[in-house]
This record gives sequence, C-alpha cells and structure tokens, in this order.
Amino acid sequence: MSEQINAAELARQQRLARKAARRAQMESTKIDPTAPRIPYVVLLYYKYVHIENPEQWAAEHLKWCRENGIKGRILVAKIGLNGSCAGPRDLMEKYKQKLTSDQRFSDIIFKEDEGDQFTFTKIFVRVRDELVTMKVPGVKAENGGIHLPPEEFNKMIENDPDVVLVDMRNKYEYDLGRFKGAVALEMDNFKELPQAVDKIESLKDKKILAYCTGGIRCETGTAYLKMRGFKNVYQLEGGIHTYGQKSPDKHWEGKMFVFDRRVAVPINHEKDQVISGCLHCENACDVYINCVNAACNALFICCENCAIKMENACSDACKAHQRDPNEKDYMSMLQRRYASKREIIIN
Ligand SMILES: [Zn+2]
Ligand SMILES: [Zn+2]
Repeated sequence: MSEQINAAELARQQRLARKAARRAQMESTKIDPTAPRIPYVVLLYYKYVHIENPEQWAAEHLKWCRENGIKGRILVAKIGLNGSCAGPRDLMEKYKQKLTSDQRFSDIIFKEDEGDQFTFTKIFVRVRDELVTMKVPGVKAENGGIHLPPEEFNKMIENDPDVVLVDMRNKYEYDLGRFKGAVALEMDNFKELPQAVDKIESLKDKKILAYCTGGIRCETGTAYLKMRGFKNVYQLEGGIHTYGQKSPDKHWEGKMFVFDRRVAVPINHEKDQVISGCLHCENACDVYINCVNAACNALFICCENCAIKMENACSDACKAHQRDPNEKDYMSMLQRRYASKREIIIN
C-alpha cells in the first residue's frame, strides 16, 4: 500500500518537475526583458446575463480573438461573462464594439488599465459553471449586497462608526495593498469563503463594506454573506480598480494585485507605496515570485538580494530540494525572470 503511494507521489513530483522545465524553456525563449514595451490597453469586465450555449460562444469568441491577435483570459458560463484581455488601443476599441454589438452585452462596463505586449501572452476562452468558483449551491449575484460607488463608499467609511471593511480577496492580494483597517479573510482561494466566514461570524450585526479587485467576487461573495445571516451588506461598485481611478489616496494603502504579468499595479500614481515585506528579510518589497521547487511552487514576496541568496526558494528545505536534471537552465531563467518582474504563476 505505502509503496503504491510512494510511486504515485514520485510520479507526481516528476510530472511537476517536467512541467517546470517545460515552462522554463518556453518562458526563457518567449520573453526578452530588454525588449521595448509597446503600450497596450488592458480591459477588465464582467456581466451576469443568460447565455444559452456557452460552448458555442466560447469557440466563436476564441476564433475571433485569435484572428485579431487579442490576448487574455475570458470565462463564459450559462450565467454570464468574466474577462480580462489586452491589445493595442485600436484593437481594443474594435473588441469593445464586437462585444457590445451583441444585445446581451450592450451595457457591459469596461474597466481600462495600462499594460504592454507582455501583460498577457496567450488567449484563453473557457467554459465554466460559475464566473467565480465558489461551489456553494444557491448563491446568486442578484441577491448580493447594495452597490456603493466610490464616493458613497468613502462617505460610509468616514461617517458611520458601525462599518467594517471586509477584503473579499486572497491573502496574497491583501498583503500587497488594501483599504486601511480592512479585515482579511486569509484565503488562498475564493473557494475557501465558507470557512473564512466562520471566523467573522461575530461581525454579523455590523455594516459590512465588502470590496475586491473588479467587483465580481463581491457579487457572489456578498450574496453568500447574506445567506449566512449578515444583514447589512454593501459592495464597492467596480471594485478597487474603479475606486483607484476616482479617489486613489483616500483610504487605500499599497498596490493592487492583478492576475497577469503586471502583478502589482499602483493605485496612487504619485507616490510608489510599498506596504509589504520580503518573506526572508522583511525589507519593504512588493515583488512576488514562485518558489524554485516546482513541487512547492509557493507564491511569496522576495527581494532581489534574498532571491539570489536563497536561489529563489521559499525556505531552506525548498532550496535543498532535488532538482530534475532538465532544470539545469532553470536558475538563469529565474534570475532573468526576477529581473523582468513579469513572470508569475498562480495556482
Ligand atoms: Zn529580502
Ligand atoms: Zn518552497
């Protein structure tokens, strides 16, 4: 029995090591950190609307994106769309027109940001059961908390002593930047929300002001809070993203975590705010890397000095791990990757 487990575990580790080596090879040839950056527009959007045949929509949309050179990650479900994609300005205008020409998406709100040709390097259009994976039956966005635009969100923080800010994102996002005084749910993944809510039961009678990156996690997250008996639940409309463009330095501190190669996006463009620290030396730092040990792959904040000293490992144990012989160019790739601050892998 235990031999079987060992064999399975060994096979798993070998698989991971091979995957890491493949990824290293691919990434090292694909991205040149010294290449001049071409300004791209990054779009972020979601819409809850019934889509009868998501498989067909995904296939057609993927084809169109490929033909036009759009890169990004788009999820489609029977209940709607959730996407982030990038391209040069003209192309993204064309993309918006294409999407809004469909009656179902005519009122979709696009959030825009600045990126470059490396923000996304691939295009995915994937069919899912949910737009944000939570796996709790019966949670519907339409039952979510009251939407507050940034101005009203600020007013409520400033004038209402009964308010508690709740960060609906993962811990690694919270660590990089957040609203001052916000409660962290300490999740590694949104699927852990039910267990995370167990820990904040004592806040049931407070006014909950929930927020996330672009607003979509709050749509179902606040519906779930209400399902659990929280009575006064509000959500920041358009998320941190929209807030940052309206009142960047009022109640926010640090940077916004994004799920593409930019990783850390400034909210306040005037001052470079770093509130997080290196895992090893605790010096101010906001660069995330993945642990060099493919079987660990932990995402952590690491300064350049420690990255060199620790060989991009999160711990001594991971530093000492047995490397696959195929990984021989892995270190130099990781150093280049650190220099370019562009590569990040989220599990
Ligand atoms: Zn350090
Ligand atoms: Zn590790």
